[in-house]
Amino acid sequence: MKRRPLPAGNWKMHTTVAEAEELAREIVGSDIPADRDVMLAPPFTALSAVGAILSGTSALLGSQNVCWEEKGAFTGEISPPMLKDVGCSMAIIGHSERRQIFAENDTMINKRIVGAMQHGLVAVLCIGETLEERETDKTFSVLEEQLAGGLTGIELKNADQLVIAYEPVWAIGTGKTATVEQAQEVHAFLRDRLTRMYEKNIASQIRILYGGSVNPNNVDELMSQDDVDGALVGGAALKAETFARIINFK
Ligand code: PEP
Repeated sequence: MKRRPLPAGNWKMHTTVAEAEELAREIVGSDIPADRDVMLAPPFTALSAVGAILSGTSALLGSQNVCWEEKGAFTGEISPPMLKDVGCSMAIIGHSERRQIFAENDTMINKRIVGAMQHGLVAVLCIGETLEERETDKTFSVLEEQLAGGLTGIELKNADQLVIAYEPVWAIGTGKTATVEQAQEVHAFLRDRLTRMYEKNIASQIRILYGGSVNPNNVDELMSQDDVDGALVGGAALKAETFARIINFK
């Protein structure tokens, strides 16, 4: 069965509330084909405002992180009920910027996934190798470790609870994109690993996104690959016109 494509925009630490509202309005006002999901992940400060704009549309609201606790003394964190309160249905977890700049590890990322899922948020688990790891033939062992570490103890009732985003660190924000062969090879590997972890009918339906300098010029070829089910987009998601073109991949 074909998986429903998911183009997703990670706005990172960009946009004021007013800018986010304008961008969200332009994106939902563009033509979003009915056969795909679209997720927008603005910064926390704009979630509520963007959530109001997405309400009643087919576009989904995502957060860029989520804590495992519901409330309490966790300065700087945001909880699953808080995110649900403003309309979030998805949460990006384990982005390489969280891992590299803020020292998040697989144990912490696993806790975030557990917390998100307990509250019905779809977890978008990001994994990816560094350039050094790729050049020293560690790509697959690193990805396997990140996948297994992030998903420790996670049971799935259905495939929609989880999305995997393969984001080679060397391709994020660098203008370098994995070749379609590299992306497909990794995605097929991840699908195989998921099949060992979950029932076949669930593993075969988990969406695996590619992320790393996706833009209007490379999205069609990437999306033509069997195991590439969508794109997690940073820079090119900040302009409505370019993201609309990505959403409308052919
Ligand atoms: C990302 O932040 O997840 C990302 C892939 O960024 P960019 O598209 O800018 O490489």
